[in-house]
Amino acid sequence: MAVQTEAKTYFNYINGDWVSSVTNEVEASTNPANKNEIVGYIQRSSIEDLNEAVTAAKQAQKSWWKLSGVARGEYLYKTADILERRLEEIAETMTKEMGKTFGEAKAETMRGVSILRYYAGEGVRKIGDVIPSSDSEALMFTTRVPLGVIGVISPWNFPVAIPIWKMAPALIYGNAVVLKPASEAAVTAAKVIECFHEAGFPKGVVNMVCGPGSVIGQGIAEHPDINGVTFTGSNSVGKRVGRAAFERGAKYQLEMGGKNPVIVAKDADLDLAVDGTISGGLRSTGQKCTATSRVFVESEVYETFKEKLLSKVKQLTIGNGMESETWMGPCVSEEQLNTVLSYVEQGKAEGANLIYGGKRCVEGELANGFYVEPTIFENVDLNMTIAREEIFGPVLALIKVHNIEEALKLANDTEYGLSASIYTKDISNILSFIDEIEAGLVRVNAETAGVEFQAPFGGMKQSSSHSREQGQAAIEFFTSIKTVFIKA
Ligand code: NAD
Repeated sequence: MAVQTEAKTYFNYINGDWVSSVTNEVEASTNPANKNEIVGYIQRSSIEDLNEAVTAAKQAQKSWWKLSGVARGEYLYKTADILERRLEEIAETMTKEMGKTFGEAKAETMRGVSILRYYAGEGVRKIGDVIPSSDSEALMFTTRVPLGVIGVISPWNFPVAIPIWKMAPALIYGNAVVLKPASEAAVTAAKVIECFHEAGFPKGVVNMVCGPGSVIGQGIAEHPDINGVTFTGSNSVGKRVGRAAFERGAKYQLEMGGKNPVIVAKDADLDLAVDGTISGGLRSTGQKCTATSRVFVESEVYETFKEKLLSKVKQLTIGNGMESETWMGPCVSEEQLNTVLSYVEQGKAEGANLIYGGKRCVEGELANGFYVEPTIFENVDLNMTIAREEIFGPVLALIKVHNIEEALKLANDTEYGLSASIYTKDISNILSFIDEIEAGLVRVNAETAGVEFQAPFGGMKQSSSHSREQGQAAIEFFTSIKTVFIKA
């Protein structure tokens, strides 16, 4: 392809060096707010590049693990400081590459800094327990060992936080890492890896290989020398990754999609519920695994809630995420925009009532990007496609319910189970919600969302392979337990 000279080329990072792919091919990463702007070129790698990275990681891992946890933590602290120093620049790249607003991109990058510091501290926390033995002359305890080489496959929607929340625990517990970022946001990921490079990690401990998911992602899932695969992305790809890892006995962790419900009870603070529904459903242009997509509202307050929601949604400003007045940026790509628009058409065809939005934005400069209006449907039936499939766009489905019992039943009528929220002041509503909702992230009077990095993150049902990321839960995936029995 013809390379625009003003855009920089980013290389793979293998064994401590920045190297081009053996294919000598690159692909352009473009700005979804302006399709003519190329943010950078990334390598279009082959399996040969992946093999080199895995060999380097395998060689480096043993001596990395021999360092103390404190010493490994020092590298993460250094990386955190460098990322913090480069926060604005990396956040700007993120906004230009995948469209979220600069404010959100800065918050995400700062989250990456905090995650690095959190896991740096893990280097001095306990990794085992002493268990009393019935033999008074024996000592029995557990300890933990790293898996070895971890393959990280990440999506484009959190291109800083997700790679970091997988890599930081992998590294602190003594693993080496090969990252394959999503191509839509690989320049941002490359800048994160630059921070690891500058922090001076020993050669081969951290590696990055860019390229097509079907080649490099699949290659990670199938690679005999990758001992653990941690994946975040769509369900269809996640299942393939999980199957391939399982077939060869590797450990795997899958975090996938959502169809996240909000329940608005008749006693709810409706203004809070409206704000939470808008923020949960439309922030990041609805391109979050935890995005609100189905809104169950008790009939007594349905009309009031709808009017308040509509009046606020009408005021949202759509535009380039780098402009301070922008509330909602573009979809990540033309393909994603077309997916959203086709769901809107399907919703209409299946009989849902489109009450707001639903069209591509084409006024002025918006015509150069992949913008879609925030979209609201009502009279949505749970059998409709828009109520069942993850849209990954700014589309809300309003569903009127008679009571909380019905809302819970309908909210659970999905194959997904990531995040769910209820707005109510009634303690019995809250307790039944906590008990009965089928979701890994349960939120009360707060929007559907992830959680702070020190708490476990993950889903139930088909949203996850049921392990948890973040916080101290991460140790379960990135290590194996050894139970030791010593006879005096
Ligand atoms: P995706 O599944 O298309 O891609 C995810 C990653 O997998 C990318 O790096 C991609 O290149 C790679 N990939 C593609 N084909 C592959 C293959 N055959 N084998 C191995 N890897 C392959 O997802 P996306 O579009 O990047 O991200 C959006 C999806 O991610 C949504 O479904 C969203 O819900 C999900 N997501 C989940 C969470 C969570 O924590 N649960 C967080 C963010 C995003």
